[in-house]
Amino acid sequence: MDKHQVLRHYFGYDSFREGQEILIDSILAGRDAMGIMPTGSGKSLCFQVPALMTEGITLVISPLISLMKDQVASLNQAGIHAAYLNSSLSSSQYVKALAYAREGRYPIIYVAPERLLTEEFLDFCLNVRISMVAVDEAHCVSQWGQDFRPSYLKIVDFIEKLPKRPVISAFTATATKDVREDIIDILMLQDPAVVSTGYDRPNLYLSVQSPKDKYATMKNFVERHPGQCGIIYCLTRKMVEEVCGRLNKEGFFATRYHAGLSDAERRTNQDDFIYDKSLIMVATNAFGMGIDKSNVRYVIHYNMPKNLESYYQEVGRCSRDGEPGECLLLYGGQDVITNQMFIESNQDNQELDPITRKLVEERDRERLKKMTYYCFTNDCLRDYILRYFGEYKENYCGNCSNCLTGFETVDVTDIAKAMIGCTETSRQRYGANVIMDTLHGANTAKIRNYGMNENPYYAVLSKVPVYKLRQVMNHLLLKEYLSVTNDEYAIVKLTQKAGAVLNEEETILMKMAKEEAVISEGKENRKTKKSSSSALDLSKADEELFEKLRTLRLKIAKEE
Ligand code: ADP
Ligand code: MG
Ligand code: ZN
Repeated sequence: MDKHQVLRHYFGYDSFREGQEILIDSILAGRDAMGIMPTGSGKSLCFQVPALMTEGITLVISPLISLMKDQVASLNQAGIHAAYLNSSLSSSQYVKALAYAREGRYPIIYVAPERLLTEEFLDFCLNVRISMVAVDEAHCVSQWGQDFRPSYLKIVDFIEKLPKRPVISAFTATATKDVREDIIDILMLQDPAVVSTGYDRPNLYLSVQSPKDKYATMKNFVERHPGQCGIIYCLTRKMVEEVCGRLNKEGFFATRYHAGLSDAERRTNQDDFIYDKSLIMVATNAFGMGIDKSNVRYVIHYNMPKNLESYYQEVGRCSRDGEPGECLLLYGGQDVITNQMFIESNQDNQELDPITRKLVEERDRERLKKMTYYCFTNDCLRDYILRYFGEYKENYCGNCSNCLTGFETVDVTDIAKAMIGCTETSRQRYGANVIMDTLHGANTAKIRNYGMNENPYYAVLSKVPVYKLRQVMNHLLLKEYLSVTNDEYAIVKLTQKAGAVLNEEETILMKMAKEEAVISEGKENRKTKKSSSSALDLSKADEELFEKLRTLRLKIAKEE
C-alpha cells in the first residue's frame, strides 16, 4: 500500500492535511523530521502512517498514560496492532506485551520515557529491529518548555544504545524558538525536515474582559451558548471546585478536572465531557493535553494563565473542527499575584541549582508579563499572540474584541509615501530598521555612518511612534508596495506598485488600534486602556502596572 492507500484504508481519510505529507515522506526516506503544528492538526498520523509502511517497530515516546491509551485504542479500533508499555500495566501484563512484541505483532509500540533505560526493555530492543523512534509532545525535552520532563532526556541515551540508529521524528505544538532549538539539539536530530504550519486559528474569536463580577460574566456567557460544549479553565483546584459547584447548583451540567482528584474520577469526568454527558468542563491546566474533542465551542479562562504558551494551547482546544468558536479571558489583578506566587513556589524549580533557578524564575516572570500585557493591549489580540510565536501577519484580524471595538481606519498614505521615498532616495540599500530610524530621526552612529541623517526624509516622521512605523512597514510589505531581499540583509526594495503611491495616485488605508479606546462590553466597562503598548516592548505604562501589582502582592503577603 502507498501512503494514500494507508490513509484511506486504516484511517478513512481522503487527503492529507497541511504538513503531513512532507513529514511522512521524509520519515519514509530515512530522514529525521520535526513537526511543529498546532493542537488538533493531526501530528499522530505523521508517524503512524510511516510505521505501517516500514519494516520493524516504531517506538512512540509519549509523556502521558492517558495519551497512550487513547491513541492505542483508536489504532486498535482501526484494525492496527499497537500496544503501550507504561506503569499502568501489571508486571505480568508487561511481560506478555513484550512477548507479543518480540513475535512481531506490533508495528507501533507506545512507551513511557521512564521505561527506556530499564534492563528488560533494553534487552527487548536489542533483539528486535527498532526502525523509527517518534517523540510525541517533544517540547517535554526542553527546560524552556512548560512541560519539561527530566525523563525525556533519557531518549538520546536510549537511542545510542541501539545497534542501528533509527529514524527519529519529533512532534510538538509549542512553537517558540528556544524550544524548537532545544528539541533539535537535545534529541540530536540529524538534518531534520522541519515543518512548521501556521499558528493562526482564524475561526476562534478572541476576547479579553476584566469584569467586576467574573462569575456573573461567565454565567451570562454560558447562558448565551445553550447546548454547546465548553471548557472553563481556572488557576487553582479550589477555584475549580467553587466554579463547578456553583454552576451545578444553578442547573448547568458541569464536571471538573484537576490533579487533586482520583485517577478514576478524572477518567470518568473526562469521558462524561467527551461523550457530551456534561456540557461544561471546569478544570485546571491539568486537563486537555491530547484531548481529541472537536466540538468544544468555547473556552473561558476564569483566570489569566501563566503565559501565552499555556493560553494558546488551551484555547487551541476550541472548535478543532474549524467551525467558529469563542475564547474569553476574564482578567483580574489577583491572577497576576497568584501566578507570581506559583513562580516563586514552583516545586520543580526547588531542585535546580540557585543560578539556574534564578534564570528560570526570571524567564517565567517575563512570560507572565507578556501574558499580562495581552490583557491590556490595544493591538489586535491575534496579532499579539502570533507575533509572540514569531509569526508576522496583518495587525488587524477582524475577529477579536480589540479589532471589533477599538480599531479605526486610518489614512497612512503620508507615512507610506515617506517610507517609499526614503527607500528610493537611499538607493534601496538598507533594511527596514534603517529606513524607520531615518524617518523617525534617530541620532545613532549607524545612521550617521550611512549618511542617512542627510537623507531628505530624515526625521520627517519624528512625531510618529516607532511601533506605528513598524505597523505601516509591515502593511506595505504584506500589500507588496515594498519587498525585502531573501538573504541575511533583508534589504527593502521597491515593487511595481510603489510608484503609484509616490505619484499620489493611490491612497493607503489601514486599520489601526485607536489611541485611547474605551471598550465597553456589556455593563462592565473595561478600564480605559492607556497608550497602545506597542508590540511586546516594555512600555512605560506596562512597567508601572507591573510594579504596582508587585507592591500590591507584597502588601497582601504581609497581611497574611
Ligand atoms: P495533534 O496530535 O496534532 O493534536 P491528532 O494527531 O490527535 O492531533 O489529530 C487530531 C484529529 O485530526 C484526529 O481526530 C485525527 O484523526 C484527525 N486527522 C488527522 N489527520 C487527518 C486527515 N488527513 N484528515 C482528516 N482528519 C485527520
Ligand atoms: Mg498529539
Ligand atoms: Zn484582531
